[in-house]
Amino acid sequence: MKISAIFKEKKRTLSLEVFPPKTDSVYEKVEASVNEIAELKPDFMSVTYGAAGSTRKHTTAIASNIEKKGVTALAHLTCVNASEESIRTQVEDLAKAGIKNILALRGDLPEGVESTGDWIYKHASELIPVIKKYGDFCIGGACYPEKHPEAANLKTDIDNIRRKVDAGCEFLTTQMFFDNNIFYNYLYRLREAGVSVPVVAGIMPVTNAKQMERIIKLSQAFIPRRYIALLDKFSEEPAALKQAAIAYATDQIIDLLANDIGHIHIYTMNKPDVAAKIQENLSEIFKS
Ligand code: FAD
Repeated sequence: MKISAIFKEKKRTLSLEVFPPKTDSVYEKVEASVNEIAELKPDFMSVTYGAAGSTRKHTTAIASNIEKKGVTALAHLTCVNASEESIRTQVEDLAKAGIKNILALRGDLPEGVESTGDWIYKHASELIPVIKKYGDFCIGGACYPEKHPEAANLKTDIDNIRRKVDAGCEFLTTQMFFDNNIFYNYLYRLREAGVSVPVVAGIMPVTNAKQMERIIKLSQAFIPRRYIALLDKFSEEPAALKQAAIAYATDQIIDLLANDIGHIHIYTMNKPDVAAKIQENLSEIFKS
């Protein structure tokens, strides 16, 4: 099913992100976790695309597997270092596998990898028409409540988001954020700029301190003092930290829903127990 149709049908949705295996040797292990997450029957599941296409066949296989489990899949696709031919092949493979939704992304050039002459589509907004040329998909894109790290300022970044929507992006999923006020401000500015597509709030339950260090480095997300205190207090107690992170994410989601933000996406890090616990915490809320 197309995600645009799901959003038309349901005011509240809970979707879950998984990542595919980097190597063949761990395929079965990752597949088992993904299957467990699919058993939770979220509204849809997204499958990431490894840096510069390094997981292309596994992204397709995992997304196809999710569809076979009766859950709508959203396959990510990046254009960094990709030729039109390689994008066409991936898009056609996804269509053959029954995938109806693609998250169109630019991606990042991995450290130490040179740009090839093939890299002709410089932004996600340029990838969208290529996807449309080779298949009938509902296309989503990424957005950044704290601005994309390369953008000079939020206004420029939002102007570029509008370009993405004008190119055919039907919904946006946010980078993770830990302070809902940042999201509310951002949404207001998106709407002021004429961006009216659904915006899915991306929530990351950070269940270990190392993961948080990495996140701060990569996304430059603002971490509220309340979260820092929790990480400090429970960093040596993994089970306690996990429980506290799940509670924090649940609290964030309830606040979003209470403020009429209906579409929530959880970055599960392939952890079925974390996804299941958050879903359980919200079971009555998502019934209505
Ligand atoms: P773009 O929309 O192209 O924007 C990138 C930068 O270029 C921004 O600063 C923007 O303001 C600027 N820009 C955009 N259009 C123009 C223009 N026309 N002219 C000038 N400047 C412009 N990475 C992966 O490798 N695999 C994944 O599966 C993956 N999934 C993700 C899912 C989500 C929800 C998010 C938020 C990110 C994901 N990423 C993934 C990371 C993403 O690839 C990086 O953040 C990347 O740096 C930007 O991708 P984008 O699609 O947002 O790029």
